[in-house]
Amino acid sequence: LKSLLKDPSLLETRAYIGGQFVDGQGTFDVTNPARGDVIAQVADVSRAQVAGAIAQADAAQKEWAKWTGKERANVMRKWFDLMMENQDDLGIILTAEMGKPLAEAKGEIGYGASFIEFFGEEAKRIYGETIPGHQRDKRITVLKQPIGVAASITPWNFPNAMITRKAGPALAAGCAFVARPAAETPLSAIVLAVLADRAGIPAGVFNVVPSSRASDIGQEFCENDAVRKLTFTGSTEVGRILMRQAADTVMKCSMELGGNAPFIVFDDADLDAAVEGAILCKFRNNGQTCVCANRIYVQAGVYDAFAEKLRAAVEKMNVGDGLNDGIHFGPLINAEAVEKVQEHIADATAKGGNVILGGTPSELGGTFFQPTIITGATQDMAFATDETFGPLAPLFKFENEDEVIAMANDTIFGLASYFYAKDLSRVYKVAEALEYGIVGVNTGIISTEVAPFGGVKQSGLGREGSHHGIEDYLEMKYICMAV
Ligand code: ADP
Repeated sequence: LKSLLKDPSLLETRAYIGGQFVDGQGTFDVTNPARGDVIAQVADVSRAQVAGAIAQADAAQKEWAKWTGKERANVMRKWFDLMMENQDDLGIILTAEMGKPLAEAKGEIGYGASFIEFFGEEAKRIYGETIPGHQRDKRITVLKQPIGVAASITPWNFPNAMITRKAGPALAAGCAFVARPAAETPLSAIVLAVLADRAGIPAGVFNVVPSSRASDIGQEFCENDAVRKLTFTGSTEVGRILMRQAADTVMKCSMELGGNAPFIVFDDADLDAAVEGAILCKFRNNGQTCVCANRIYVQAGVYDAFAEKLRAAVEKMNVGDGLNDGIHFGPLINAEAVEKVQEHIADATAKGGNVILGGTPSELGGTFFQPTIITGATQDMAFATDETFGPLAPLFKFENEDEVIAMANDTIFGLASYFYAKDLSRVYKVAEALEYGIVGVNTGIISTEVAPFGGVKQSGLGREGSHHGIEDYLEMKYICMAV
């Protein structure tokens, strides 16, 4: 892996605590999912070391909070610049440990870096408020202050951006940050620390604690009084566990949890645009994103035409090692991910679904899987309630608006939703009726640092991105002064 990098020193395997790269208690292996070989042995940080990292972060935060917004913005800008200057190397590291095609990995680095840029700029605009007093001699001022130490737990599907989305607003607000990356993808997190160090982010303000002991680290984060904010991206199941644990210290939580995104194609849609949007939305990252379309609803009049166009387009796409050229689908992250896709396919076919493309693992072996399309999908099939997180596109048929809105909302989740239509009153009505935090209208891609990303219902709490995103890392203090 080192030989592929322009700057081999970016491939760091130690933890970053208090401004130092340190060993853990032993190491754990990081595997390339495309080739199955071990590419690094990474410091396995113990719970006691995490407690130490939190103490260092706590001390550093007090100083960091005194910096002006502009001072914080300046070093964050350097950090952003270094990410972009090293975009190719960061992309290669990301693909090697996670599997997504290199073009997507580089795209993620640009996307991830944008949160550092955006929130650095936002550091200058953390405005308070004055409120006219309730008595003649009273003056009321509202201050926004950093919440303190923020700790993050993040998944493997966006090893860079899931961390920067949290660290960007946290650091901009004046918080210190302790990141525990997914054990599958620690290298992309540690390289952020290498660049933070080079950018001049002060020691202790940004820490990375790779560890194979997820639940131990989660407990330390929740039980340690110095941590005032837990920010998590992952499954709803683990989110529930962490919220229960965080109750004891009444810790503020942001939760970006599971989704089960509907993607609706109405009969007045531009079908070619809808096919293009569906491919981006369903198959990006091999279906392994929490905003990927999980259920594609197509109105009866255009159902067959849409299915055929989608099949013809996806058939031309290539499965393979993401480090090679011209690859659209890398491997799935692990064997369990493959099993889940197979279970969803078996369940659907047993209930009358029809596989019109793919349906089986790729001949490349390993965790490569063929992109799959199933027609005749119905609400009793597993993917109607459960996120597949893989390259499986089930096509459901519907007759009218009310019916499809009811089906789309029939889930405990409420993260992203999408629909294609042209009739303006339909567009408004459907956009308002979908019980989701995000609605893509005539587009399959909705992620950007300038908009508030987040879910309703059991998809989570809080928003990431936009000027709203920084609020999750700020406390309000109200000063009542008699004059
Ligand atoms: P995913 O399927 O995306 O991996 P998970 O919710 O299982 O979603 O995992 C998200 C992150 O949470 C991962 O980094 C994982 O190691 C971590 N994790 C899993 N279980 C726990 C736990 N009990 N406490 C803290 N972190 C956990």
